[in-house]
Amino acid sequence: MPYIQFLGAAGTVTGSKHLINTSSDLNGKDGFQVLVDCGLFQGPKEWRERNWQDTPVPARDIDAVILTHAHLDHCGWIPRLVKEGFRGQIYATPATIDLCGIILPDSGHLQEEDAEFYNRHKKSKHDPALPLYTEEEAQNCLQYFRPLQIETIKQLSDEISFRFVRAAHILGSSMAEISLKINGQARHLLFTGDIGRVRDREIAPGKVVHSGPAEGETADVLVMESTYGNRQHPTDDPRPAMAALIRKTVERGGSIVIPAFAVERTQKFIFMVKELIESGQIPRIPVYCDSPMAIKAVEIFLKHTEEYSDETRRLVSQYGSPLAWPGFTFASTSEESKKINDNHFPCIIISSSGMVTGGRIQHHLVQRLPDPKNTVIFIGFQAPGTRGFTIKSGAPEVKIYGDMVPIRAQVAAFEQFSDHADPPELLQWLRTFPQKPVATYLVHGEPAAASQLRDTMSKELGWNVQIAQWMQKVRGFCWMRLRP
Ligand SMILES: [Zn+2]
Repeated sequence: MPYIQFLGAAGTVTGSKHLINTSSDLNGKDGFQVLVDCGLFQGPKEWRERNWQDTPVPARDIDAVILTHAHLDHCGWIPRLVKEGFRGQIYATPATIDLCGIILPDSGHLQEEDAEFYNRHKKSKHDPALPLYTEEEAQNCLQYFRPLQIETIKQLSDEISFRFVRAAHILGSSMAEISLKINGQARHLLFTGDIGRVRDREIAPGKVVHSGPAEGETADVLVMESTYGNRQHPTDDPRPAMAALIRKTVERGGSIVIPAFAVERTQKFIFMVKELIESGQIPRIPVYCDSPMAIKAVEIFLKHTEEYSDETRRLVSQYGSPLAWPGFTFASTSEESKKINDNHFPCIIISSSGMVTGGRIQHHLVQRLPDPKNTVIFIGFQAPGTRGFTIKSGAPEVKIYGDMVPIRAQVAAFEQFSDHADPPELLQWLRTFPQKPVATYLVHGEPAAASQLRDTMSKELGWNVQIAQWMQKVRGFCWMRLRP
């Protein structure tokens, strides 16, 4: 009997990794083994340490990876999997593959930099500190990627096939609809990956890709994310408050620092800033996009026009490529990045990583956090345990590069930019299912979020909902009942 095993994003929001094993022998390898997503654990040490553990089945015995989207918590462990001996194929949409082509080598580069830093400053208990994988190893894993268009069926073996359907989360994002033959009968498994905003314009302004995940899905087993299971997104337009905050900071001679994922969130934010500048709501101050990935991400973004929202289409046709906008500087070299520190006039600095777990945002924050004139604006989710979470939660100081940095700058956060559906949106989407899944497993959520969403779904929909546990195996007979 086949089984699913939750190897990550169970009890936490990172490290998405779910193994499907069609084997009838739980310990043997006589079936086909597929990993749905292969993400990096981020955040608390307890979770990050799991990045160093092997998969419960040898990596070389895994036959394929199905990747839902290019966020690191879903794709960031792929280079390690390949390093451990995986030689199968990694299926993803063309846009996801393009994005992985920049995200994974960058992740390897950051890990090398961090290891090197800790070795230089002797701040690690490991001697020497090693990167989980290098930039070169990340580059090397790209050869195993295979593009698969949305809604094209791919047969992986006699008993398992799948197709991607739209998730509307970020550029290229998809859900994986898997069809599994058990004793001659087909069973459908739906892995949502991350689910994008269901309702669009008024409540998710600035969304750069179209919204609305595929409707009318059929699943015997649903493995669904629960990031926002206990929170609702504000429904007001963030732009007036954002503009006021930027104006006030500029009036007192300060700068605005925005930690943002280089992919998607940065594009969303620069489009919004452009609009605020052109409409005169904020002064025309320099905007620095300081992420080595930002230029490449914008280029990839401009290539995949089929994914645009109407608003994005309008902005691109009106103002052209963000890379050519006057006043916007995309810093690619570290010299250009450091030069931004010399700017003591008000400016806007957008840099990654979005949760301040690494990258150039760190040196900008070391530079700007101690000065009360400045403002740090969060426009993304901050996982507990990350530096971003510490700063956002009002702590007086934060550890960056091994030193404590006082937090005197104003700190603000906007929740409207989320690319995850909230409970009312999730319910709206789930109500499009023609029938109840036999079982739903919630993943990718903090325990409180997952349990609240479980209660909401049980109450509102009457579904059988369970919270996935780390390393839990769900055997095939659990979803065999009911269906003829
Ligand atoms: Zn995601």
